Amino acid sequence: MPAATQTERIIATTEAVSARNYAPLPVVIERGQGVWVWDVEGNRYLDCISAYSALNHGHCHPRIVAALKAQAERLTLTSRAVHNDRMGAFLGALCAISGMDEALPMNTGVEAVETAIKLARKWGYRRKKVAANRAEVIVCRNNFHGRTITVVGFSSEPQYREAFGPYGPGFSMIDFGDAGELEASITPATVAFLTEPIQAEAGVLMPPDGFLHQARRICKAHDVLFMLDEIQTGLGRTGRLFAHQHEADAAPDVLILGKALGGGVYPVSAVVARQGILDVFEPGDHGSTFGGNPLGAAVAEAALAVTLDEKLSERAARLGEKLLRALAALESRRIVAVRGRGLLIGIEVAPQAGPARELALRLLEHGVLAKDTRSGVLRLAPPLIIDDAEIDWLIERLAAVLG
Ligand SMILES: *Cc1c(COP(=O)(O)O)cnc(C)c1O
Repeated sequence: MPAATQTERIIATTEAVSARNYAPLPVVIERGQGVWVWDVEGNRYLDCISAYSALNHGHCHPRIVAALKAQAERLTLTSRAVHNDRMGAFLGALCAISGMDEALPMNTGVEAVETAIKLARKWGYRRKKVAANRAEVIVCRNNFHGRTITVVGFSSEPQYREAFGPYGPGFSMIDFGDAGELEASITPATVAFLTEPIQAEAGVLMPPDGFLHQARRICKAHDVLFMLDEIQTGLGRTGRLFAHQHEADAAPDVLILGKALGGGVYPVSAVVARQGILDVFEPGDHGSTFGGNPLGAAVAEAALAVTLDEKLSERAARLGEKLLRALAALESRRIVAVRGRGLLIGIEVAPQAGPARELALRLLEHGVLAKDTRSGVLRLAPPLIIDDAEIDWLIERLAAVLG
């Protein structure tokens, strides 16, 4: 038997002690800088997974790491039992960038989704006078909003749900992009409509043009909160700061952010809302030990500043278009369709080309990290700091594997 490589040894010792709730690509990363990562054998890869858009700023962005280091040596955690001198500046920057009025900081994406659901329910009981324990939230088929019991309880994906019930009531489901069904599903107990602007995990599915604007109008007409989960699409990924900005007059009442908000170094999420919504929460209603901590706040404030200063959404728009055009020109038998916005791109792989995961493995051999979504669509989502030369390099590799 040949001697095990370092990669094989690390994978074996890791798998011996870890739960198997993921099926990672067979590569062990030990270093990252910008759009590149290096494995323990010294091979270099262009990271088109970007931790599902948590790495919009690239790996170890110097300005974000500097903010982390400086804050780590001054103050890291206080809990919300006292004020800290960083949270206000972070939330102020977040409200300014999103055009919202108030924010509630949490840590992971799904916690922010749970927070938004709690918010919608209390808003419904207090403001809309919905009968006690009857509040309903409308969601979309093929949604992905995270992995807690409540959230998988309203997933339409069997694997996310099976064997994890029982689930609580209070959710109803419509087809993604169907404004007529949305309006027809609203009852006097409906408190919110929760959706992603683009269903990234479901295979980069885009709603018909105008859907978000229509959803906003319908929600407003029926006194229902319009809540957008932009955890993956937000902060520049789709070529605008927020994906809803591709449509006129489609801003939500409640915006849910995470992933890139933490600058690729620290988990930071938030629920951001228009005036007069978050104020239904009173002291003691909701909380998080780490939410709003000064270390996360300093990192997130730096991440927002880099997003603006380095014009990451403009980069995503320009380079995403270039990448989409190159993929469309490939005329590959392996590709059924290519779609996306900005640098969130899905390649629908032809059934005869084999599983998308096999293509991901071939891309790995060519120095590209990419992963299939749950529906067998290969997702390309490099860090938004990627430059023209790196996009050209990527296009060459994609042509070699897919062409
Ligand atoms: C990743 C993601 C979540 C969950 O975020 P976590 O930080 O993994 O809890 C929720 N919604 C969307 C759209 C996501 O992409």
